[in-house]
Amino acid sequence: MPDKLIKALGYNDQIRVYVVDATNMVKTAQEKHGTWSAATAALGRAMVGTTLLGTTLKGDEKLTVRIDGKGPVGYILVDSNGKGETKGYIKNPQVSLPLNEQGKIDVKGAVGTDGMLTVSKDLNMKRPFVGQVPLISGELGEDFTYYMANSEQVPSAIGLSVLVNPDETVKAAGGFMMQVLPDAEDETIAKVEEAITNLPLMSKLMDEGETPEQILDRLVTDRSARILEAIPVSFKCNCSKERFKDAIIALGKKEIQEMIEEDHGADAMCHFCRTTYQFDEEELNELKEETDMP
Ligand code: ZN
Repeated sequence: MPDKLIKALGYNDQIRVYVVDATNMVKTAQEKHGTWSAATAALGRAMVGTTLLGTTLKGDEKLTVRIDGKGPVGYILVDSNGKGETKGYIKNPQVSLPLNEQGKIDVKGAVGTDGMLTVSKDLNMKRPFVGQVPLISGELGEDFTYYMANSEQVPSAIGLSVLVNPDETVKAAGGFMMQVLPDAEDETIAKVEEAITNLPLMSKLMDEGETPEQILDRLVTDRSARILEAIPVSFKCNCSKERFKDAIIALGKKEIQEMIEEDHGADAMCHFCRTTYQFDEEELNELKEETDMP
């Protein structure tokens, strides 16, 4: 089944709800980066969280989330946009750790808590919007929640969940975001809190075959959920040989000449999807002619 995100309103339109099944997206990321369990869960949660934030944007707007908590996985970088296209990178993919006290993958231990979560939004304006909060948990769901409340002033609850198989492949991944709209009653907020407390581990529900629609009904317990939109989400990288050409041109004549003399060509790898683009001597010579840099 392809990945899907649903946008809905609930509790008589007092709460906005997003639910996403991102199993294939995180599966693809795990395969491309060869991540081990703790890195898979950290990267996967970051990708699900960024996708939830991304789909609040318009189609051609995009955002980048950088998480750096000085833990063993190093920094995590995730790009997403209003179309649900997400790509992710983790500095050290081969990290696995003993399970935490709750018997779960130790995402906090992998990410660390000595650092920041930074969101940079490109809203097609002159400058990007940048918001930053300290990592308060390292488990990432709470960190995204804290970001929404403090940087965007939208009281929210964000849950992120990744289930990893013993052979390191991804079993299920998904998440939800509930936002309190300005006219919400206290009674409604109490119901939301109760629903979230009672929600079983989301990736487990999805592994058992529950759809985002069914999980939506678990989150909106008064049966007032109203789906506004369903959009596909996926791992998608927008790199191309053209883009790498520009990057090589920017290096300047001297460096390109060195690549020609020493390596007789160049391999450029995209950090996000690990696609390698090869440039032979002839192509490098052409790029050398195009550069204005010494
Ligand atoms: Zn790429």
